[in-house]
Amino acid sequence: MSDHALTGEDRPGDGLSDLADFLAHALHLENEAADHYEELADAMDAHNNREVAALFERLGGFARQHAAEVPTHAAAHGCTLPPRHPWEFHWPTGATPETPLRDHSHYLMTPHHALTLALEAERLGQQYYQWVATETGHDTIRALATDMAAEESEHVAILEDWLTRYPAPAPGWDDDPDPAHMPE
Ligand code: ZN
Repeated sequence: MSDHALTGEDRPGDGLSDLADFLAHALHLENEAADHYEELADAMDAHNNREVAALFERLGGFARQHAAEVPTHAAAHGCTLPPRHPWEFHWPTGATPETPLRDHSHYLMTPHHALTLALEAERLGQQYYQWVATETGHDTIRALATDMAAEESEHVAILEDWLTRYPAPAPGWDDDPDPAHMPE
């Protein structure tokens, strides 16, 4: 155990003033989004919707790629990604932007439902990066966050388009006469 005090670059912050800290936020957000998209893709596969499963695999792939680019950004700017516990991040809304993607437990989840959760998560991701870009006084953070916000805007547009093809199901879609016999 080292008892040396954490320097400014190591200390968890709000992601607005220290590049390594912002990149740690981005890495966490993108990896979590990728993990949850993979789970959502599996759920859609289980509901025999290969088309929507493939979309989620694609969106998860974008998130994974963004995560993979984070160490490159860090290296390009000569900083080291600090280790972080999930509870050490500061999110302006109090929750990780990908949180809506966790809510996929409903065993009768429809493609519309799943696409709506994904749209909400992408919007929160876009708003997060936009918030950073607006609030930071750090030029490199602003430039990276602006790019990331633009990419999330593209994902929002993709999902808005897909939702027009999967409108809300009719009321009563989740009436289940015998839930006990439904497989998980
Ligand atoms: Zn995205």
